[in-house]
Amino acid sequence: MTQIKITFLGTSGSMPTPERGSSSQVIRFGRELLMFDCGEGTQRQMVKAHIGFQRHMRIFISHMHGDHVLGLPGMLQSMSLLGREKPLYIYGPEGLVEYIKAFSDSLGGPTFPVILHEINEPGIVLETEEYRVEAIRAIHRETAWSYGFFEFPRPGRFYPEKAVKLDIPKGKLWGRLHHGEIIELNGRKIYPDKVRGPERPGRTIIYSGDTAPNEKLIELSKDADLLIHEATFLDELAARAAEDGHTTAYQAAQIAKEAEVKLLVLTHISPRYPESEILRLEAENVFKDVLVAEDFLELELPLK
Ligand SMILES: [Zn+2]
Ligand SMILES: [Zn+2]
Repeated sequence: MTQIKITFLGTSGSMPTPERGSSSQVIRFGRELLMFDCGEGTQRQMVKAHIGFQRHMRIFISHMHGDHVLGLPGMLQSMSLLGREKPLYIYGPEGLVEYIKAFSDSLGGPTFPVILHEINEPGIVLETEEYRVEAIRAIHRETAWSYGFFEFPRPGRFYPEKAVKLDIPKGKLWGRLHHGEIIELNGRKIYPDKVRGPERPGRTIIYSGDTAPNEKLIELSKDADLLIHEATFLDELAARAAEDGHTTAYQAAQIAKEAEVKLLVLTHISPRYPESEILRLEAENVFKDVLVAEDFLELELPLK
């Protein structure tokens, strides 16, 4: 049973402020680390949050704006200094490879393999045994991606007492039934449903990156456990938001409501709002289960 913890490392839009670092958040999925965006100063935020540099790690970059990628050179350098050997996987839009090559050429390349994957079309970016990550096009001033993390459903709970009652010997057969196999024992067929509960749905996290309100994102977010949506502005600046390819707190709340997500967390807050409470209040008029992310906010997604 894998623990899912989300830590917000940087929650400011465009530039850091005394309270907020540049964009970055991580999903801790068991021992694995999935980072979404890596704004300037992300490595220091990781140190403060006690997240080590030696983990199995994948980074997903939403787009090539400085407030989302300037943390990469520093973080890769620190990883090299600390002797990282494990490969690091980085996914992102066109331009990612050129950017990493440019700073590696002038600063010296990392001492560990960096495996780069430029995303050219929407779809599944990564699939493991336990989850998949999907990208859809965001609506921003340049190519940008929004990401969805989807944990696969897990087998239902296994009831040993039921297996004992059915005279199924403990051991391999129990495991096979738990994983959904129909087994045959002394000429009788035993179906997994006899000894286990219903399949438990996986957990879902959506990250908008920088984007104007996007119908496709509503689809992707349907029933999500957590929607991390940018809310750069208050709705009084809706025209400015549209022009720059951003979303207001009010619009983000509408998206959360339409998608019927369980929790909405607003991030990428403009430095013009040192008191972010006003964003929450605006969103709350539309959607009750909303938080404004602060740096180092940590959430745990309970098992379903
Ligand atoms: Zn941004
Ligand atoms: Zn941007």
